Amino acid sequence: MSKSEDSRPGTSGPAHHGPATGPTPSPTVPQPRPDRPRPTVPPELDYNGRRHRRAMEDATLLDMARRIPTALAQTARLAWSVDRRMVLTVLVCQVLSGIGTAIMLAAVARALPHLFTASSPAAALHAAWPALVVAGVAQAAGSGAWIGADWATRRLNPQVASAADLTIVDLHMRAEVSAYDQEGFKDRSQAAEIGAARAVDLADDAKTFTNGLVQLVSAASVLTLLHPLLLFVLLLSVVPKGLGGVIAARIDYRVHDRTISSRNVRSMMRWWLTTAELADELRANTMREYLHFWYRTMCDRVEGKELEGAGPYLRITALAAALSGFFVLGMWASLAALVLGGHMALAVAGTAIVASQTSGRALNSIIRYGTVMFHHGLYLSDYHEFLTEVRNSTTNRGTSLVPTAPHTIHLDDVAFAYPHKDTPALHPLSLTLRRGEVTAIVGENGAGKSTLVRLITGLTLPTSGHVRWDATDLAEADAESVWRHVGLVPQKNGHWPLAARENITLGQQREFDDFRVWEAAESVGMAAPLRKLPAELGTLLARSVWGGHELSGGQWQRLACARALYRSPGVLVLDEPTSEMDPRGEHEIFRALRELAPGRITLVVTHRLDNVRMADRVIVLDKGRIREQGTFDELVAREDSLLAELYALSKDR
Ligand code: ADP
Repeated sequence: MSKSEDSRPGTSGPAHHGPATGPTPSPTVPQPRPDRPRPTVPPELDYNGRRHRRAMEDATLLDMARRIPTALAQTARLAWSVDRRMVLTVLVCQVLSGIGTAIMLAAVARALPHLFTASSPAAALHAAWPALVVAGVAQAAGSGAWIGADWATRRLNPQVASAADLTIVDLHMRAEVSAYDQEGFKDRSQAAEIGAARAVDLADDAKTFTNGLVQLVSAASVLTLLHPLLLFVLLLSVVPKGLGGVIAARIDYRVHDRTISSRNVRSMMRWWLTTAELADELRANTMREYLHFWYRTMCDRVEGKELEGAGPYLRITALAAALSGFFVLGMWASLAALVLGGHMALAVAGTAIVASQTSGRALNSIIRYGTVMFHHGLYLSDYHEFLTEVRNSTTNRGTSLVPTAPHTIHLDDVAFAYPHKDTPALHPLSLTLRRGEVTAIVGENGAGKSTLVRLITGLTLPTSGHVRWDATDLAEADAESVWRHVGLVPQKNGHWPLAARENITLGQQREFDDFRVWEAAESVGMAAPLRKLPAELGTLLARSVWGGHELSGGQWQRLACARALYRSPGVLVLDEPTSEMDPRGEHEIFRALRELAPGRITLVVTHRLDNVRMADRVIVLDKGRIREQGTFDELVAREDSLLAELYALSKDR
């Protein structure tokens, strides 16, 4: 097993130095100066999980032939689901094109004896012209039908691409958030995206492949009628090319497969290196040099693996072409021998040549596009496998609807462990939250605060125990009906590239109400900054887009709070909502929370311990356990209080 096959995506591995685990750096990689420590080479990543990794390597022609109907059926189903009319058009055009070829060949077979046996060219033309006209018209009609099939496929392609892409995006948004924690999820998701993109290629391949089949059936029937031996010789000329195509496609797939994780990580890093959001940090902390080295190493790694495949690819393609040429010569020699030996009329040999050219092209298409279909079909199977995986993890817990916001939320012996983690993020804990009460959750980093928020809001279900909204167990509730009552300001909130208005109303189905939008903005101190924007609420908030504007970090946080308040939710949850805000902003948010508290259950996670005073109750989490709870004053007065210790530390700063 190669080194790359040992590691898994996401495993950052121990820091190791020197080129031992990386590729030999290319001359373009800036080499570390001798007086500097060697930079850490990015770990080799490889995604090992796909079942069909060996499929391409082990596939025989027969395996491929068996798999192609599945790929055809999958493509047809996808195309049928988006535009039945165009699918039917492709099919009809294909059949018409085949009929055109058959008629053309039959007409040529009729015309040639006249051409070879007539006493003079004029007599030959006179006798042959009706058949020649039929051949010409049939050929033109067949070509017209092919153009029709091409047109219909062009209409189908963008629809297939959008449908496949939409399905993937939609399923991501419907999946349980825990699906993202599964090992290799990102890699599988990326492979599925490639599969979705290849669905379009498959539609094209399928068109050329089936056209090859139709042409072949037409031509082969004519050819077999002339002399069965011709078909056999013809087959020999095409098989080496087909085998070469299969092996070349395997090489291609292997290269793709070995580089998928590196390309995935590289494209993720590319965003980090080019986004304006991190531009200051990258420059001011002189990160450029190492990041360039890192990125260059990844490029070299991908490039190196791709170059490794180029030599074998060339060798196999050249060998296949040479063998194929050898057999074509053989076919021509057999024809000559048959004619010279008096076993075949010259006219028949002439028709055989025309028919063999047609069926040769058709067989070439079948083998070439069959191989490509097999190849693309593997990606399409990634796509379908991923759809099944995500469909299985689609949020679909139960049918109990939660029509009204809860009065109480009970956590009953609730524990939570992330997959592949030895220590649970939350040990069994019980807790009740009541309407009208503001609860603050405090604790050091990693104490389990965000995990608790996810459980209370039903974003994740507990590993054990029950979360109940009044009498409804969230494990049996329809998740969307639960979330309709939630307003969440997460630690990382979206800087949605939408207008300011949509940034506040996002997630609310009811009609936009600018009065309420301004009200929400006002309550978090965002009304004045929004009024200064060129189109006020209509201003696009995305600096990267032409005409867009950018807000500061604190303003984005205020906007996220405005979004949650605009929902007027029954369960308002703010996870470190003021970490980037100035004291005035922070004060405004906490004042707004207090004012709104009577109608809802309010939960705030914060490190700003001065503000924790305004909460009715403080819950202090420590290593996944509730260490203490009570009012702020009660807790800080206790001996051995973690809150008192954290509060004292915050005062010392
Ligand atoms: P806090 O919000 O108090 O900082 P979290 O709830 O985010 O803490 O995390 C609690 C523990 O769970 C930490 O040890 C953290 O590393 C782990 N954790 C959080 N999110 C994930 C995740 N998606 N996958 C695995 N472990 C996680």
